[in-house]
Amino acid sequence: MPNYQQKIINLALDIIFPKICLGCGKFTGKNDFNYVCGKCFGEIALKNILECIGCNRPTRFGLTCAFCAKKNKTDQLIIVAKLSDPLVDKMLKTYKYKFVQDMAAPLSVIAKKRVKKLLSKGFNLFEDNPLIIPVPLRRNRLNWRGFNQAELLAKNISDAYHMIYRDDILTRITDPKHQADIKAKEDRVNNIKNNFAVKNSEPVKSRTVILVDDICTTGATLNECAKVLKESGAKRIIGFVIARK
Ligand SMILES: [Zn+2]
Ligand SMILES: [Zn+2]
Repeated sequence: MPNYQQKIINLALDIIFPKICLGCGKFTGKNDFNYVCGKCFGEIALKNILECIGCNRPTRFGLTCAFCAKKNKTDQLIIVAKLSDPLVDKMLKTYKYKFVQDMAAPLSVIAKKRVKKLLSKGFNLFEDNPLIIPVPLRRNRLNWRGFNQAELLAKNISDAYHMIYRDDILTRITDPKHQADIKAKEDRVNNIKNNFAVKNSEPVKSRTVILVDDICTTGATLNECAKVLKESGAKRIIGFVIARK
């Protein structure tokens, strides 16, 4: 879509969605994020106890437990905030389904808060000089505002920590059903199977890769990406999501 068309759409959307706080409904001001006021932002519930991607049981730093390690190729899962916090849920839905690009800023800031907290507890996400990459969207889902929400988040986080960001590594090879439309865990796993490919394996060889997505549910998408990345020589995969359903 040409740039000017996108600008017009964005302008129209700003009128349709006036800049009021998703938390308290008040108009946001200069010192607030566009759709989240400073007060509500400060009260966002971060996810304190991390869990295994496979069995959802609490584990130290979200490491995948020994029992689940065979089936789950993601080695660790960092979850930023609690989806039970209604503001987090609203922010993610607005970001994903209303394509409000401005939402990337507050989401990235809570992601940074979470990273800082991990660091204070002894886990340094950046120790291995990891590569940060977004989970690619389904091809027909690159939205009409022209952005992939996982890409924007990954980019913001990489900028904040001067990490190497690449969005030319993973690709979708098929367009399965949207995962959100599928309820059963087993069906989700099958739906996403063999959907991804690595088109550029050199940068991932022997590297730790941080795989960023907005939401994770069963972990099937992250695990599929992790599988092909590891087949291409990646050493360790850390899933990084804003929230888990
Ligand atoms: Zn507010
Ligand atoms: Zn487990």
